[in-house]
Amino acid sequence: MKKAIEKLVGRRDLFNPGAGAATAALLGTADLEAYPQNTNTNSRPSELKITDMRMAWVRDAPMQVPILRLDTNQGISGWGEVRDGADKRYALMLKSRLLGENPCNIDKIFRKIKQFGGPARQAGGVCGVEMALWDLAGKAYNVPIYQMLGGKFREKIRLYADTPESPDPAVFAERLKRRMDHGFTFLKMDVGVRLVENIPGTVSRPLGITSRELSQTQHMFTGMELTDKGIELMSEYVGKVRSVVGMEVPLAADHFGHIGLNSCIRLGKALEKHNLAWLEDMIPWQYPDLWKEITDEVDTPTLTGEDIYLKEPFMELCRKHAVDMIHPDLASSGGILETKKIGDMAQEHGVAMAMHFAGTPICFMANLHCAAATENFVALEHHSVDVPWWEDMVTGVPKPLYTAGFANIPTGPGLGIDVVLDVVKEHLREPGFFEPTDEWNEARVNDRLWS
Ligand SMILES: [Mg+2]
Repeated sequence: MKKAIEKLVGRRDLFNPGAGAATAALLGTADLEAYPQNTNTNSRPSELKITDMRMAWVRDAPMQVPILRLDTNQGISGWGEVRDGADKRYALMLKSRLLGENPCNIDKIFRKIKQFGGPARQAGGVCGVEMALWDLAGKAYNVPIYQMLGGKFREKIRLYADTPESPDPAVFAERLKRRMDHGFTFLKMDVGVRLVENIPGTVSRPLGITSRELSQTQHMFTGMELTDKGIELMSEYVGKVRSVVGMEVPLAADHFGHIGLNSCIRLGKALEKHNLAWLEDMIPWQYPDLWKEITDEVDTPTLTGEDIYLKEPFMELCRKHAVDMIHPDLASSGGILETKKIGDMAQEHGVAMAMHFAGTPICFMANLHCAAATENFVALEHHSVDVPWWEDMVTGVPKPLYTAGFANIPTGPGLGIDVVLDVVKEHLREPGFFEPTDEWNEARVNDRLWS
């Protein structure tokens, strides 16, 4: 083919990089697009079309995660996943809006479907599809995703590991120490009311309120406050952990319990001496003015964002400097491109971005590409350090997927991985393994949001 074109136009140099436009003009033909652009395409991108969506629902990874595959008319498929703990139907309801679309038009499709996302798990379908579109576009043009986002700011991605809690600080500190022995350079712990609530005189709350009521009620509305004794004991717990892991390693804190704003501030002040990396989700993300009170009062970085969908709520938090850091979960925040935009926006306000993540290696790869291409990135969460088969779900990248607390950025096209079907099949949450989804083919509504 290449020889035939050379003969036709009589100019060998047209196959050099940058000569694409001239060739296209000379040949006047669209079906040679791979040649004039001198790009190693795996397909013909301009004619690529989405033909199907198939799913399989994984369990115990450690979360339950629906995996999705978008198929095309050119034999390439894209992988994505719906956020941990979300329903696969969040993705399936989008299928009728995707069939026939060219997956390379990622932003166009994202704008078409983003009305079907919302905070936290509601965004799972939109974000899962978005990462599969990037995977397809990367495969079609034979480019890794980070390159399509503008290239890398770093060669490896710093991870921070989620670590199972223990009421005994010595036991928990030992677990953190093991993380450090494995090379992790950034740690996180839970510092919850539950550490002290069974000790008399530590907490006041409406008598008889159940733990279920507490967990379903936002922090400001529970009527639960810490006493000085409660605060002292929680601070002591952190102090004991610090005495084992040292003061030098960043140690973030999460899951404080649904205590009122004033208790958050008093606890935050008491914890200042332990030099924590951040105080996470002390109150819900929906209250930027209240967040600003905590941030102004407490001299430890504050952080929220794992349930925020789209850039706008992050903008409000960053503009007000209501938090010191943001923490989007790419599978909720709007996917790969939206999360890079969120990071870039935050950077303009002097706000750093850590990334929340609790899924399979598919979404892990999406995170690595985004983290590589976003300058204000700090560290990416890893929730599955203790799940032995977690890495086996994918192939095509060097194993282990991370060493000494840093992950390697995949270099293959798209996400850079393929999915190992046998491993997925061994860990299904429910019957159904990429079976036909024809009942989701037809759109029966008018999606327009304006008149
Ligand atoms: Mg969290």
